[in-house]
Amino acid sequence: MISRTIEELMSEKKDTMMIPSENVANVMVGNPLEHAFLVLSKVGYSKIPVLDKGDRFIGLLSLNDVVSKMMDIDGIDTKNLSKYTVADVMNTEIETVKENCDLEDIMHLLVDAAFIPVLDDEGVFKGIITRREILKAVNHTFHELDKKQRLSGKFVLQPATSK
Ligand code: AMP
Repeated sequence: MISRTIEELMSEKKDTMMIPSENVANVMVGNPLEHAFLVLSKVGYSKIPVLDKGDRFIGLLSLNDVVSKMMDIDGIDTKNLSKYTVADVMNTEIETVKENCDLEDIMHLLVDAAFIPVLDDEGVFKGIITRREILKAVNHTFHELDKKQRLSGKFVLQPATSK
């Protein structure tokens, strides 16, 4: 359980913790792989969310998934890019969180993933929380704790709130 003091300091960075959906590169589930390959190459991220027409989160597509589909026993065959769609190669077994989820749950999930998609109750994609933004908040928290400690001479963490 995270102490209230730490949770409060972390929440000072709440506004920047989630990258909103409008700033997150994505592909549509029905897009041809050719298009997805271009998007992935252009944005420079190796993994991006896959959405449906209603902006619902469907899964993640990685550059590796696309390149693997281009490979055959003789080497790379780019013809496969027009034969298949995002739906044929995406990964749908993805951990997601709700907008008001606990910071502790997010931290646990970010041990194994560079980012976690955030969804509303209808499964509509709202944005992503990245390990990078959480680390920035952790860094801020450490510095603020240090400041508090130096100001008071002694500093005791407040107990966690029961949930
Ligand atoms: P970062 O922590 O900024 O290195 O991001 C970690 C991962 O999150 C990246 O490799 C991407 O897969 C994903 N990501 C971060 N920002 C974006 C974005 N604006 N659009 C799409 N994916 C993103």
